Amino acid sequence: MNGSVMKTEEALVSAMEPIYLGIFEGIKAYVGGDVLGEGGLNIFGWVPHIDRLWRSAAVTGLEIGYSKEEMLEATRGAIKANGFKTNVYIQPRIWPKAGTGRYHASEFHVVIPIWKFDTLLGKDNSRFGVERRYVVSSWRRIASDALPTQVKSWANYANSALATREAARLGYDGAIFLDNRGFVSEGTGACLMTVRNGTVITPPVTASILESVTRGRLIEFIEEDLGIPVEVRDFTRVELYAADEAFLCGTGYEVTPLTSVDDINFGEEYPGPITTAIAEHYSKILEGKVDTRKSWLTPV
Ligand code: PMP
Repeated sequence: MNGSVMKTEEALVSAMEPIYLGIFEGIKAYVGGDVLGEGGLNIFGWVPHIDRLWRSAAVTGLEIGYSKEEMLEATRGAIKANGFKTNVYIQPRIWPKAGTGRYHASEFHVVIPIWKFDTLLGKDNSRFGVERRYVVSSWRRIASDALPTQVKSWANYANSALATREAARLGYDGAIFLDNRGFVSEGTGACLMTVRNGTVITPPVTASILESVTRGRLIEFIEEDLGIPVEVRDFTRVELYAADEAFLCGTGYEVTPLTSVDDINFGEEYPGPITTAIAEHYSKILEGKVDTRKSWLTPV
């Protein structure tokens, strides 16, 4: 935090922090050679994640005050100080310091909390194929000309919280947003991909989605490594219903298959074969087992 490694309980801030003005990133480091086991850690997609953090700061008028290299060294330092040897989630957070001007602040907190997570990935992981029944939210995705959805700011997650709470109240496991034009947008914390007649289809960045690092990498390797065509285009709620398979993708959600939306099941088989093939290849990339994708990994 702000240049030193410190215990979470000592990382204290003022009660007057302008908390709604913060930005952050969500990044994961996986154990090389075994997605589920112990060993050396590699950060997935460090460069696009840190570039997005810099873009988020520019759009929202925050100054990070450290170089990208210093952020990487701080992340490595915090992982080592914790002695982590298992998969970890890294969440750099930046916000204006209380009392330094708010919208034109002169000082900013830069904090990099790191904690362990349990992956859904890895062959035969029992969490992967758990039933997940989703619903199309009555809350629309915030329009990107109201709050920029390509910025990873905490304010955007107030929209996600409304949709998640509504889904839970209605007895579903999660929500899918439509955008302000009525086209399918994304999940509450992940992008959406569907499979129809052997083609993967995902909404474009203009559908008020966060420009997801995972989505970008998936689009690349699904076509190039697996030979499955990908279409990036708008689609409607009814075309979502017609999908043979659907899954969420993102740092947190990794590749998360969905069973149904609005009580309409996707296809015959769950999890679907293409979703499973994508998840398995993704976990091999994360384990450092795909030579051509090793450049996506940054050793801790
Ligand atoms: N959309 C939203 C709203 C998210 O919160 C996330 C998670 N960061 C994603 C998509 C996926 O983005 P990424 O692959 O960069 O984690």
